[in-house]
Amino acid sequence: MRVILVNLIIYLTYLSASFANEVNIFSARHYDSDVQLYEKFSAKTGIRVNVVSGKSGALEKRIIEEGIDSEADLYITADAGRLGAFETYLQGGLTSATIKSVVPSNFRTSKWTGIAKRARIIYFSPERVSDSELSDLTYESLADPKWKGRFVIRSSNNIYNQSLVASLIKNNGKSKTAEWCEKIVDNMARFPKGNDRAQILAVAAGEADIAGVNTYYLALMLSGKKGPEQQAAAKKIKPFFPNQNDRGTHMNISGVGLIKGAPNKQNAIRLVEFLLSEEAQKHIVNNTFEYPMIKGVSPHPLIVSMGLDFKQDLKTNVANYGKKQSEALEIMTSAGWK
Ligand code: FE
Repeated sequence: MRVILVNLIIYLTYLSASFANEVNIFSARHYDSDVQLYEKFSAKTGIRVNVVSGKSGALEKRIIEEGIDSEADLYITADAGRLGAFETYLQGGLTSATIKSVVPSNFRTSKWTGIAKRARIIYFSPERVSDSELSDLTYESLADPKWKGRFVIRSSNNIYNQSLVASLIKNNGKSKTAEWCEKIVDNMARFPKGNDRAQILAVAAGEADIAGVNTYYLALMLSGKKGPEQQAAAKKIKPFFPNQNDRGTHMNISGVGLIKGAPNKQNAIRLVEFLLSEEAQKHIVNNTFEYPMIKGVSPHPLIVSMGLDFKQDLKTNVANYGKKQSEALEIMTSAGWK
């Protein structure tokens, strides 16, 4: 009897060592409150969540260098273009009924899925841009010479811009988009510099009349979390959602990818499903000012006040952003988009 018991203990110890009940996330999201989110998951499931945070580039480099020895199960980052370009290091498996039922098919592949949405829109100065000037504005019509010297956007090495241009290549073809890029560069008020919030600040300061920026940045500035000056600047700016009369406004995602060779694949899938639950979605959108991925969750009130009734581009699959990324960068660079 004693021998059996000792053997059983040895066996159980072996089991727990080889099937550690945990999941390892490599995350480029920098929110202290994410810890609370993962704690909720652990409390529900008994699965411990270990987080390695860093910038996307550094996390990707580490996953590539560690290869099959990597403990990474999931990679959380912003932009479908980034996840798409990293697909070689991801594996299929995010195909559960839960995931498929809540995430529209244009926002996921079997290897990665969106967990929140954002739009890349136009912010304008209502003092210098009239409603009639804006009406029917599309990404395409930003190339119109009437915007000469009035438009600001960040540099071509920015992933959001690469994904926007990739979506234009998908919809209009490479050569038309190359011409568009040249006209866009002509219309710029200055050489691209700074982050997305810097473009809003430039319009507020009168350096430009319109800016191409992601939706959540205006809300972030309005919230006061970036200080009173940025809050005041944001109040001078209004949002406009392009392409309302055709395919809809350019959408992108924050997403999560399943790492090739993930040691805790099943736990990883459960965590992805949790991130898509109502509870987690509320937490995510209230911290990031993004749009929820699932139905029935309201974004942050500051995002609600920007208007939710705009038409989103649900036609262009975001998987194209990774596929067309190198073409996008190539035509932006040749157009002189710094
Ligand atoms: Fe961002």
